[in-house]
Amino acid sequence: MVKAIQFHRVTPKFQYCGTWNYPLQFEGFIRSVKCDFKVVLPGEERDGLVITFDDGDMSVYRHAFPVLKKHGVRAIVFLIVEYIGKSDLWDITLLGKRSVHLGWDEIYEMRDWGIEFGSHTMSHRNLTTLSDDEIGYELSESKRILESKIGKVRCISYPFNRVNAKIVELARRNGYEYGFGGAGQSDLLIKKEAVYITDTPWSLRVKIREQPFAVYRYDRIKQQVINYFTIATMLTKKRTKNRVQDAEAH
Ligand SMILES: [Zn+2]
Repeated sequence: MVKAIQFHRVTPKFQYCGTWNYPLQFEGFIRSVKCDFKVVLPGEERDGLVITFDDGDMSVYRHAFPVLKKHGVRAIVFLIVEYIGKSDLWDITLLGKRSVHLGWDEIYEMRDWGIEFGSHTMSHRNLTTLSDDEIGYELSESKRILESKIGKVRCISYPFNRVNAKIVELARRNGYEYGFGGAGQSDLLIKKEAVYITDTPWSLRVKIREQPFAVYRYDRIKQQVINYFTIATMLTKKRTKNRVQDAEAH
């Protein structure tokens, strides 16, 4: 069974969240995983490591793609379809700084080099809280739009790693072959480990190998806490936005 590591932003600018890495740090990770593991895309080998990026941040093009090209390492980038080419609408935006998402020009260039693109749904909502129709829309519409632009889409990354049996079944029915998020039970539940600014090549190796187990358990708990706070931040922002809209309506 393959396993995945998950990056978000790669940037020299300090971020007020944990889910980013400095470009030189990122290059260190790529060197180290290339040396210790077989880096693959899904379906190529029975075992191996898949390198993924969630959210399709522009910094992936600017700072990660040059490193991947330099080392000849392929990866999958998961796009939030409604945000392609737009400023970030939901992540933590302190000091008025907004991040920008990849546009089609960057996506085409990366695809032509060998980067694979997958769906990270239409709007990055927690799928486990949606109705069947809403889940179906998030899965099928994102795949349809991406395929109309870049060709076949095989992979889905579940937002916040939130997934259940119903979502897996809907992903399968909508033609996805590989799903990222879950505990590694099947091709539609490939386990992934988030990489943070605090990680080192050693801690990354612990995550991938799941050894020493005590250190690994601690890291999984940390990942769950960070996911929990990301969802909480989103909900707060949504409420604030609704309140602003209400105020404007009056
Ligand atoms: Zn995401």
